[in-house]
Amino acid sequence: MSKSIKELLRVHKLNKTPCRADMLGVLIETDRALSEQEIKEQLAYDYDRVTVFRTLRTFIDAGLVHHVTVNMHEVKYALSKRDSRQNGDNAHAHFHCETCGQVVCLGSFSPDEAVIPEHFSVKDYELIINGLCAKCNA
Ligand SMILES: [Zn+2]
Ligand SMILES: [Zn+2]
Repeated sequence: MSKSIKELLRVHKLNKTPCRADMLGVLIETDRALSEQEIKEQLAYDYDRVTVFRTLRTFIDAGLVHHVTVNMHEVKYALSKRDSRQNGDNAHAHFHCETCGQVVCLGSFSPDEAVIPEHFSVKDYELIINGLCAKCNA
């Protein structure tokens, strides 16, 4: 189903490195946005923090990964479905469960044009819906 790691790296013109391939593997496997620590815990190899952080930056710069901040400071990363620089994939809402902390990407969501002042233009936006996930609601 999901695009192969090799294909994703090729489309975004990135060379394959062990850490990039490993991290993409983790991000492809989940439908959640993960923190740096959550990603690190699932990697096959224990890369140092700088390598993990640099790889995340590279993915973000390439439009392969986007991030969302919850609880003021907690940054979560998720695979972008398309090249976010071209298709505005970053413009979607996220659901944040206040109990277990999981963050999931929701489908695209358009802000109501009417609330944008005249002659202003929207480039990007962040919408986080806080609540309880199905598991925590049960
Ligand atoms: Zn939950
Ligand atoms: Zn997302």
